Amino acid sequence: MFDYLIVGAGFAGCVLAERLAAGAGKRVLLVDRRPHIGGNAYDHYDDAGVLVHKYGPHIFHTNSREVFDYLGRFTAWRPYEHRVLASVDGQLLPIPINLDTVNRLYGLSLTSLELEQFFAERAEHVEAVRTSEDVIVSRVGRDLYTKFFRNYTRKQWGLDPGELDASVTARVPIRLSRDDRYFGDTYQAMPRHGYTRMFERMLAHPGIKVLLNADYRDVAGEVAFREMIYTGPVDEFFDHRFGKLPYRSLRFHHETHDKPVFQPAPVVNYPNEQPYTRITEFKYLTGQDHAKTSVVYEYPCDDGDPYYPVPRPENAELYRRYKALADATPGVHFAGRLGTYRYYNMDQVVAQALTLYARLRE
Ligand code: FAD
Ligand code: UDP
Repeated sequence: MFDYLIVGAGFAGCVLAERLAAGAGKRVLLVDRRPHIGGNAYDHYDDAGVLVHKYGPHIFHTNSREVFDYLGRFTAWRPYEHRVLASVDGQLLPIPINLDTVNRLYGLSLTSLELEQFFAERAEHVEAVRTSEDVIVSRVGRDLYTKFFRNYTRKQWGLDPGELDASVTARVPIRLSRDDRYFGDTYQAMPRHGYTRMFERMLAHPGIKVLLNADYRDVAGEVAFREMIYTGPVDEFFDHRFGKLPYRSLRFHHETHDKPVFQPAPVVNYPNEQPYTRITEFKYLTGQDHAKTSVVYEYPCDDGDPYYPVPRPENAELYRRYKALADATPGVHFAGRLGTYRYYNMDQVVAQALTLYARLRE
């Protein structure tokens, strides 16, 4: 008899399994339909021996000391500050847009103060900032919006920025300084030996049994358990009763090159002509020393594994109906990016899981 059946061995499922077993002495069965643990943060050594992220670049950053310290119990950290260049008008320019981006793009030599003025002169007046278009045009104007955000967003989401919540493009700051770090968080680091190793250590507890290649629907009838924690897509749990919640997918194209360095930055974004959104070169992220190098291209698409909830009002409305159903389902707790339909980063998923754990303990 298990106390908990946990569906999904990603960040949400692994944190809850670890806490319930090690923190509360519960017996946990953790199932995933994929052949590996780690969910979308899974990493592995490819055929050339380069450590890669199977589902695209995962860079850890958080402002939460609690989350950072909690994960730090299962991994050493390698300090890493992420940097991204965007390919625009034949140049590779820093993104987030900063002082150097503007000076190099337009051949200017503005100071930070003058840049503020430059933005103010171009910013469009928006009565209430609601969409992903509003956020950018109201801050820097239409030209920078068009060059860096409009087409990237159309590609990534299959929607115009005007159809997406402000929160989507607001993830990327606009800076007056020369700071070219992608994230501003207090803690920025990568698990020194990779995410999968960290998850293995979290799950190495006698109270946790892991079952891979297994859909919970095939398992739930065969084993006895008291309660379930579900971290898969919430609409799928209810057989899409109210219709499908939109999730955006990606096709990943992995490549290995017979040279030590492929591109001048960890990630290069392609906001315009290319069918892919970005190329990531993993050795920058992992610090691995290797004669070859591996990269991944991301091609956004509708069909495929659900990776991104799509933040816009009608989807929030549909999710609210599923949420009400979830709240009224006794013995099942919903968590994670897919289970609660939130565009969450890894640290937010960990924080959410720790909060759920605290509630379950009461
Ligand atoms: P998941 O990792 O999706 O795990 C859910 C698991 O449930 C899956 O393994 C799935 O197989 C399993 N499952 C679903 N249904 C069933 C079923 N019926 N039976 C059995 N198993 C089931 N976050 C960051 O902080 N930094 C980044 O740089 C970053 N980059 C990202 C890049 C990409 C391309 C993507 C897609 C996401 C990125 N994220 C990043 C977000 C990060 O991946 C998520 O926040 C985190 O992995 C979510 O964890 P989770 O446990 O909620 O979900
Ligand atoms: N974005 C953009 N141009 C860029 C980078 C980001 O238009 O060069 C927009 C795009 O809509 C993207 C969102 O900002 O989906 C959030 O970017 P982030 O890098 O956080 O996306 P993620 O890593 O979650 O895919």
